[in-house]
Amino acid sequence: MSNAQDFIALEEQYGAHNYHPLDVVITRAEGAWVWDVDGKKYMDFLAAYSAVNQGHCHPRLVKVMEAQMRRVALTSRAFRNDQLGPFCKEICELTGFDRVLPMNTGAEAVETAIKAARKWGYTVKGIPEDQAEILVFAGNFHGRTTTIVGFSSDEEYRFGFGPFTPGFKILPYGDIEAVKAAMNPNVCAVMIEPIQGEAGIVAPPEGFLKELRNLTTDNNCLLVCDEIQSGLGRTGKLFAYEHEDIWPDIVIIGKALSGGMYPVSAILADNEVMSVFKPGEHGSTYGGNPLGAAVAREALKILVEENMIQRSAELGAYFMEKIRAIESDHIELVRGKGLWIGIVLKTSAGGARRFCEALQENGMLCKETHETVIRVAPPLSVTRDDIDWAVERLDKVLTTL
Ligand SMILES: *Cc1c(COP(=O)(O)O)cnc(C)c1O
Repeated sequence: MSNAQDFIALEEQYGAHNYHPLDVVITRAEGAWVWDVDGKKYMDFLAAYSAVNQGHCHPRLVKVMEAQMRRVALTSRAFRNDQLGPFCKEICELTGFDRVLPMNTGAEAVETAIKAARKWGYTVKGIPEDQAEILVFAGNFHGRTTTIVGFSSDEEYRFGFGPFTPGFKILPYGDIEAVKAAMNPNVCAVMIEPIQGEAGIVAPPEGFLKELRNLTTDNNCLLVCDEIQSGLGRTGKLFAYEHEDIWPDIVIIGKALSGGMYPVSAILADNEVMSVFKPGEHGSTYGGNPLGAAVAREALKILVEENMIQRSAELGAYFMEKIRAIESDHIELVRGKGLWIGIVLKTSAGGARRFCEALQENGMLCKETHETVIRVAPPLSVTRDDIDWAVERLDKVLTTL
């Protein structure tokens, strides 16, 4: 079988229809580029929602993964392995946190953060049993478990999946007065994406995170930053919260933690919070396994050693300037940070999907988000020439369609 239509037909016939992908069937990838089954080459401007910040199939990751697979892949946490300790030390030294708790997918790490925050609320803060509240924000995306979709503000994510876990309150994103009004002694945490990715690369007003940090400190509750998509270099800093110079109590990471090789996620926290977990109270069969730990160690080294965070800041600014210079009647505004750019189209443009389809024809894979935003988030290994190439195509599609 070689024809794209055949692969698509198989998926359509035998797979659940829980996605609506562009009809491009990828068979191979390298750096910022992917190839489809017909041999056509595309630049990847989604980077698996920032899971491949390091670039597709990074040779160093492939090498480490292969070697580790041959030695030992999974031990379970009933025993120890020689990758977990070094992983914990290296990630703590890189991020400045005291401790790390590794999981697998992003949603699991979010669940872990929720458990940590609640347990801290009961055992440290003294919230009465089963009364803990977590404040979250409209437009959030924290994953797909029943608990997490229960506090989504998006009907598509929620409808038909109830009844939902109580204890969450949704507030307008970026509205500090709303957070003040919702504060009460039972609040154990406020959980936020420093920049909302799935919502269309939306940042809160400048200074909001700082105010939120002060407010949570004053009210003795935790600040939890979900950096699964915004973190690990995407915005031109290791973490997006660094743009406002704050220190969260819990940071949730995933996606690029493994450079796209394998699901690895984690929460980071200091001793006071992380020590709420005692042996047996939380865990995962694959969490902290030697393969995942080895891959994550290398993925973090690549980010640092290949200056990917700095590249994201510099090339992102360059890219943003070029996109803003495109003279198209369809563009409402261009926003973002680092190599994470949202091109917001006017309602008159007729939706972002048709532009993404036209970009695909021109060799660029982008994905629309929330109907009207074209999300541009290439691997951080992208070059200036790649960006010039992409701007030409963006210009063409946005000015002729
Ligand atoms: C992708 C994402 C998640 C969920 O991660 P999965 O690995 O898909 O479970 C959670 N939060 C944010 C901000 C994300 O972008």
